[in-house]
Amino acid sequence: MAILDRALVTLLPAIPKPVVRRLAERYIAGPELEDAVRVVRGLNTGAKLATIDVLGEEITHADEARAIAGAYHDVLETIDRERLDANVSLKLTGLGLELSLDLCRENLESLVVDAAARGNFVRIDMEESSTTDDTLALYRELREGGHDRVGVVLQATLKRTLADVDALADLRPNVRLCKGIYVEPATIAFREFEAVRTNFVRVLDALLDAGCYVGIATHDEWLLEQGRRAVAERGLGRDEYEFQTLLGVRPELGDELVSEGHRLRIYVPFGMHWYEYSLRRLQENPKIAGYVAADTVGRLLHPLRNPGQNGR
Ligand SMILES: Cc1cc2nc3c(=O)[nH]c(=O)nc-3n(C[C@H](O)[C@H](O)[C@H](O)COP(=O)(O)OP(=O)(O)OC[C@H]3O[C@@H](n4cnc5c(N)ncnc54)[C@H](O)[C@@H]3O)c2cc1C
Repeated sequence: MAILDRALVTLLPAIPKPVVRRLAERYIAGPELEDAVRVVRGLNTGAKLATIDVLGEEITHADEARAIAGAYHDVLETIDRERLDANVSLKLTGLGLELSLDLCRENLESLVVDAAARGNFVRIDMEESSTTDDTLALYRELREGGHDRVGVVLQATLKRTLADVDALADLRPNVRLCKGIYVEPATIAFREFEAVRTNFVRVLDALLDAGCYVGIATHDEWLLEQGRRAVAERGLGRDEYEFQTLLGVRPELGDELVSEGHRLRIYVPFGMHWYEYSLRRLQENPKIAGYVAADTVGRLLHPLRNPGQNGR
């Protein structure tokens, strides 16, 4: 399967852009903020929350980082004006993490302050392991500086994550827990499917035991079941945790969670750079290409079985 996934990724640049666009449509709201607004409104109507991600490409200048921060200010303003039930998710490399820590801090802090003034919230996505220390350090700085409307992401793939929970526990962080999309070296990451699952459950239990609000971000049915167990065992109320899924990915699982009364937040990416972004993410983790291919073939064979999130 891995060989097939890699072959798919190698072939991708040769596939005409309109075809890739058709494939990506399901997972990305569209090129403009108004596309994200339309999708989020539909989700909200279906009792689902959202987190909006501005798709950016790799940046090389401070001005580009400031432009991405500006785009996020627009998103926060729009969420407020349109009364959407949504927050934002951002990547620190997009705000300049790899150019200058000060630039990134400045951009991030201005967004967290803006979000707080609007009663909203900023989620800092987690990227490759080379950025984990800086990301968690900036998060701690913000929280110690009195900014509470901000959360981080921890990745079950990384062996360090349980220790990170311990180290962060005094902050009672708001954490999105996911498997982690980046392919990391075996020295620092679990590579076996079951080992990642086991660590996910360990970290989830540790976070809940530390009194953290957790966004349980997965489409793995076994882990969703573990999530249900973990919150039920602790008698947590509906507003003390949430489940999170990606736009267009296994929407039937999300519908089930909502019908059971759980809070569900959908990750909604939008932006002009959807093509470059999609290619880069697929190149980073060829397994995703396999998922998308399997999903597409499934839809072609059973077009009516799974109409998708929000009718898309
Ligand atoms: C809301 C949210 C936010 C995330 N934020 C981050 C982050 O900040 N940093 C990070 O490293 N990772 C992030 N991820 C990605 C995550 O780490 C995983 O790579 C991804 O969710 C797949 O893992 P899984 O738990 O769904 O399990 P898997 O076993 O990988 O997937 C379970 C099933 O879901 C389907 N599936 C999963 N992903 C896709 C996809 N992309 N396209 C099509 N089908 C798919 C497949 O049918 C698969 O069999 C996020 C995921 C979610 C849901």
